[in-house]
Amino acid sequence: MSILASIEKNLEKISDFLNLSNREMKLLLSYKAVHHAKLDVNGNKYDAWRIIHNNALGPGKGGIRFHSKVSEEEVKALAFWMSLKNSLMELPYGGAKGGVRIDPKKLSEEELQQLSRAYIRAFYKYLGQDKDIPAPDVYTNPKIMAYMLDEFEKLKGKHEPAMITGKPLILGGSPLRGDATSRGGKIILEEFLKHVKPKKKTIEVVIQGFGNAGMNIAKMLFPNYKIIAVSDSKGGILLQDGLNIADVIDVKQSTGAVVNYEGATKISNKELLELETDVLILAAIENQITLANADRIKAKYILELANGPVTADADSVLHERGIDVIPDILANAGGVVASYCEWAQNRAGNILPEEYILNTFESKMRSAFMKTFALYSKQKDFDMRSSAYAIAIKRIIAAEKARGHL
Ligand code: GLU
Repeated sequence: MSILASIEKNLEKISDFLNLSNREMKLLLSYKAVHHAKLDVNGNKYDAWRIIHNNALGPGKGGIRFHSKVSEEEVKALAFWMSLKNSLMELPYGGAKGGVRIDPKKLSEEELQQLSRAYIRAFYKYLGQDKDIPAPDVYTNPKIMAYMLDEFEKLKGKHEPAMITGKPLILGGSPLRGDATSRGGKIILEEFLKHVKPKKKTIEVVIQGFGNAGMNIAKMLFPNYKIIAVSDSKGGILLQDGLNIADVIDVKQSTGAVVNYEGATKISNKELLELETDVLILAAIENQITLANADRIKAKYILELANGPVTADADSVLHERGIDVIPDILANAGGVVASYCEWAQNRAGNILPEEYILNTFESKMRSAFMKTFALYSKQKDFDMRSSAYAIAIKRIIAAEKARGHL
């Protein structure tokens, strides 16, 4: 099922509960702005997008992805999820996303810089601290944010650090941002486990994806959790006694692939998803659990650290089989919550104490979990995604109504 069809199906699941009118449904399924450009790097042209799904609650907010599979449909879905994520976390933002269809691993450092600057030259008119605020996403990082900020400020002729988040510390970045997605994911996972109280002492974990999100959560969970398998785009490794994550990280950083770790069984990504485990963490990309494999998943709980890794029809199968999915808009919201702290600090022109930032971060994550879990426990036909969606959509509709748009 396509990601936009998945989104529509997820909205249908909550439309009765929220009494959504046709007009409200139509508004939720439409986009405020779809910008497209062809970016030129050394004579090669690459498709690029910046899309705002909704901005009733505030300026657009969401990352920019560099990936060979980026499409308009994908960026739309990612922008939609950002609207919901920002609303669920009660951040003063709408939802937006950007992307360039390119394999960044094939570019030199110089070309990556050219591409980042070209992106801003194409879209700078639509960006700004009160308009739309990008951040890192798949295969983009603080270095790229710095090139983008620099190009933006050159074009505008003034400083505006809050126009982008996930910057290097020296340019106003936040010490929290680098591993915030994983930090937030760990808080959500632990809150969830506190509520469902699994009877085992040692929780087994499988992680798909070993980039920023997957690697950092592995680092944070080790050694209290037994991480039996991990994978990246080149394949996976399994060790029933538990992997030594510090060693796996060394191998990943020195060779570029976890499969070079010795002493573990090599498995495919497909096999990894179907392993028996307590927690399966999906930290790669969208559409990983679909109707094709949902009935073979043996994990008890799934934590979506990536955006959209489970399709809506697979959700229904997992729900029927009693497998809880902790949805992306909650599980991976740590990234954008840290971005918010960075943005607020940049706007205030003030250095906020680290303790204050950490407290804000943790309390935002916990309260979003509590709200979501409370509705999930009360509304028997709901899975956790439906609860999170209902809470988020309700706020977006209320903001649209307050503006007199509905
Ligand atoms: N790309 C991240 C996400 O999908 C972070 C977005 C942001 O910080 O604006 O949530």
